[in-house]
Amino acid sequence: MNFASKALRDVTFFPLWLDHPDAPNVEPQLIGHASADLLIVGGGFTGLWAAILAKEAQPERDVMLIEAGKVAYGASGRPGGVVSTSIMHGLRNAERLFPEDIAELERLGQENLRGFRDTLSRHKIDAEECWGGELTVAVGDRHVDDLLAECDLHNKYGHKAEFLDAEALKSQIISPIFSAGCWNRDLSGTVHPARLAWGLKHAARALGVRLHEMTPMQSVERDKGILKVMTHDGSIKARKILLATNAFAAGDRRIKSRVVGIRDRIIATQPLTDEQLDRIGWRNRQGIYDTRTQLNYMRLTRDNRMTFGGRLTYYYDGTNNTDPAGERVVQPYLRLAEAFHRTFPQLDDVQFTHAWSGPIALTTRMAVHFQSYQDGDMIWAGGYSGFGVSTSRFGARVGLAKLDQEDLPELKMSFATSMPSRIPPEPLRWLGAKITLHALDTADEKGGWRHTWLRLVEAMGFPLT
Ligand SMILES: Cc1cc2nc3c(=O)[nH]c(=O)nc-3n(C[C@H](O)[C@H](O)[C@H](O)COP(=O)(O)OP(=O)(O)OC[C@H]3O[C@@H](n4cnc5c(N)ncnc54)[C@H](O)[C@@H]3O)c2cc1C
Repeated sequence: MNFASKALRDVTFFPLWLDHPDAPNVEPQLIGHASADLLIVGGGFTGLWAAILAKEAQPERDVMLIEAGKVAYGASGRPGGVVSTSIMHGLRNAERLFPEDIAELERLGQENLRGFRDTLSRHKIDAEECWGGELTVAVGDRHVDDLLAECDLHNKYGHKAEFLDAEALKSQIISPIFSAGCWNRDLSGTVHPARLAWGLKHAARALGVRLHEMTPMQSVERDKGILKVMTHDGSIKARKILLATNAFAAGDRRIKSRVVGIRDRIIATQPLTDEQLDRIGWRNRQGIYDTRTQLNYMRLTRDNRMTFGGRLTYYYDGTNNTDPAGERVVQPYLRLAEAFHRTFPQLDDVQFTHAWSGPIALTTRMAVHFQSYQDGDMIWAGGYSGFGVSTSRFGARVGLAKLDQEDLPELKMSFATSMPSRIPPEPLRWLGAKITLHALDTADEKGGWRHTWLRLVEAMGFPLT
């Protein structure tokens, strides 16, 4: 039996983060009719941050949050949990999109992460946060110059980034395929995502937010000037609605025109022993991304497990069903386990205990945008493209400001006034996604037409390589 099959032999297909004795009780579903000044739909990070920010700004405001399943059932209970200062999916992406605003976007990103960290201490949320920074590592020699440029760019905008050559990198992480690194120590690090979501849920409730789980919004209509949301067993009248449904709304016709629902996967090891940890030398516990075309990302947990993510596929069953619990077979995780083995062959004796996937709302911008409905009384905030653990706080803040038509300088910036490009409809979208993901998988080893195709997709606006 090869490494991947052996190491995945006893795996549970459930997110490590949600498999925890501290999981809170489920709040009762809404039965009957209710009203609220602000209704938030979706109990992931965006919705929870929005609830807290709205109440902290106006304690007397009547805020209700409804969640279709349980809080953190979606992407927020499933990420790698790497927390970044960037609100635009990294400085290079910000430079690509909004070069004229880059300094201000960086300032806003740092302000966002300070607000994130302040909220955790103010509400005594133990999200197992670890502020070891973010480390981008080059695989092979191809991206070493890019990493040098990335470090320079970070330092130009006030970060504390350090370039690590192959030798220096070994004192942070040992892998035969890593050839250099850029370690950005500024403010960032990792969190336990479910503990973060549960802590935010607790804080929102303590602030007076009314929260109903197992309460999916089914439709919305305007009824005598006020918005009326129908749920399974009731209805809610609300003046304003924030749709915090991220990738789940990628099935909606309008949202779908700019958002693709993609599935991303993670595997988690059993707690590593001290001796196993010594073999990889990962002392500062950074959140790590590599530069492979189908990138992998990894981090350590408080109890010394390693989570290892990557391996995107496209959701397509005709309905854009993004149910994250759907995938419970070993096959899709085998290649991820093989990538783990290539990265850390010295850990050939580990077992994976958990494997799971989750939905990502991908756009050509690769960062948050806002869609407006019902004459601006209903706003969708999302599209973080796999980079939303901290950015969702920013998305919630700007989404609320848009709803309330606040006089906020950010609302005049290009990121808030523009939209990502439209994406071709099905079946072209499905075909394009299939070819692109195959090319991403094999471009590093096989090259050829794959690089030409990826450049073509990049020309459409998706920054892939
Ligand atoms: C595998 C994976 C790894 C990732 N790794 C990272 C990482 O390391 N760092 C990082 O920054 N980001 C990462 N991300 C991205 C990050 O998890 C997301 O950007 C973030 O969690 C989005 O939060 P959200 O609240 O907008 O969406 P979600 O958490 O998806 O919340 C949306 C919620 O809306 C609910 N909902 C949907 N429809 C309805 C309805 N009709 N009525 C009521 N409720 C509804 C859903 O049940 C869901 O709970 C990762 C994502 C995945 C999937």
